[in-house]
Amino acid sequence: MIEFKNVSKVYPNGTQGLKNINVKIEKGEFVVIVGLSGAGKSTFLRSINRLHEITSGEIAIDGKSITKAKGKDLRIARRDIGMIFQNFNLVKRSTVIRNVLSGRVGYHSTLRTVLGLFPKEDVNLALNALERVNIVEKAYTRSDQLSGGQQQRVSIARALAQEAKIILADEPVASLDPLTTKQVMDDLQKINQDLGITTVVNLHFIDIARQYATRIIGLQAGEVVFDGPVEEATDER
Ligand code: ADP
Ligand code: ADP
Repeated sequence: MIEFKNVSKVYPNGTQGLKNINVKIEKGEFVVIVGLSGAGKSTFLRSINRLHEITSGEIAIDGKSITKAKGKDLRIARRDIGMIFQNFNLVKRSTVIRNVLSGRVGYHSTLRTVLGLFPKEDVNLALNALERVNIVEKAYTRSDQLSGGQQQRVSIARALAQEAKIILADEPVASLDPLTTKQVMDDLQKINQDLGITTVVNLHFIDIARQYATRIIGLQAGEVVFDGPVEEATDER
């Protein structure tokens, strides 16, 4: 589903973000990327949907190079990838449902979405997505009135409304307390198991990684230093 072939990334200032990465993630996996701050987790994740450009090598999704995709092909490839950020990235002054509907943007003409005109099917899709993360009662609440955990669940719903086949979550629980962390991770796990959405999550806590991952990839200084099932992952990174 996601394949890294000899991928390296050197930032303009010379920092090596990723070093010769070869990784294949299969459909339906729940992969957690672990590593200390600066290990390359975010660079790894953001290379997949080209929020970051790699310097050499190739990344393919379903056998198709995203590295070489341009224009419409890139937009279509990105439609399959839902992104979850540490800081939720919601439009704060918009309602929850409007934020979730923004996941539908790639499916309609720009004019329609600028005007906020979404068909009834999209509204239903958005409400279903909110139901799946147990927050449908907040659909018409302004996003900035929600707690951090609730906002993160809205951003998961946005990825669901997008009908993403892949979810990339960059430190999704880094700003949340332990209870909320569990709720958000449980939601991600449930979606992975119920819908078979391939999930790649960056975490800097190995204990949370162990509870949820089917596979752990350890990064250090831009290199893969561990790749295997949870049982084999130790605390030494
Ligand atoms: P992590 O997500 O594991 O904390 P990152 O992928 O953010 O790691 O960073 C990997 C390395 O690349 C670090 O040394 C970081 O300082 C560096 N880095 C990240 N983004 C940039 C950038 N835009 N320009 C230069 N260096 C960067
Ligand atoms: P790219 O799109 O090629 O991945 P970015 O847009 O991430 O590059 O980086 C643009 C600039 O932001 C970098 O050249 C760097 O000066 C700065 N920058 C951002 N994050 C970091 C970081 N963690 N360490 C050093 N520089 C950074």
